[in-house]
Amino acid sequence: MACIWLFVASYVAIHGVAQVMILFHKLMIPFIDIHTHHNQSPANVIAVKNLDFEASPIGLSSFGVHPWQSVMINHDSNFIDNCMKEVEAKCMMPQVVMIGETGLDAYRGADIDLQKTLFLRHITLSEQLGKPLVIHCVKTAEEVLTIHKQQRPTQLWIIHGYRKNAQMARQFLRQGIALSFGLHYNVEAMQIAYKENALWLETDDEDVTITDLYQEAAKVLAVSVEELQLNIYQRAIQLSSLFRLE
Ligand SMILES: [Zn+2]
Repeated sequence: MACIWLFVASYVAIHGVAQVMILFHKLMIPFIDIHTHHNQSPANVIAVKNLDFEASPIGLSSFGVHPWQSVMINHDSNFIDNCMKEVEAKCMMPQVVMIGETGLDAYRGADIDLQKTLFLRHITLSEQLGKPLVIHCVKTAEEVLTIHKQQRPTQLWIIHGYRKNAQMARQFLRQGIALSFGLHYNVEAMQIAYKENALWLETDDEDVTITDLYQEAAKVLAVSVEELQLNIYQRAIQLSSLFRLE
């Protein structure tokens, strides 16, 4: 046993802590897929599965009323209360580690006022339960930024499927909002998000594997896949809700 520790100590002395962590990661650290609609993930992947309305969580999950589903909800406050009670009950389950996807969509879903009402209810839930928020944001960046300023949430907000330009990315990042990238992305926006330590990767509902996305992103960011894995994993373990089960 003493030999092992002697080996570890000499390895750290020679290669430095960062290299040792990368080695550790190669052996142990999984890929994080922060938002997916796929049911199956490979063994070395920790994926946060977005649950359909009727589904029960099996592994790590996120749950909320998608802006597109808001067309099924009417403005009656009792109806909204009842719907949100159901959402809350599911979000309280320990497997549900993130709230959403929720958010705003200028092109689809109910009128924007109803979407905002639902979005605010999800923000409240995220704060009450201490679980981060995964956000669908289409042509509504200004509204989301304004609501973030007004609400001053303590929980992390992640804009999922981020495809917009670097300028808008800077606006989100300046307010402490993280960005998750999938199959389609802006290269400069991805590079900025990584520099700001606020980059996540996701398969969403695309026909792609998370390992392929890590490989592609690593090239874009001019880092090794291992460094990228370590970067995302380190931030994932700071999201206590994500790893509460482990
Ligand atoms: Zn999605």
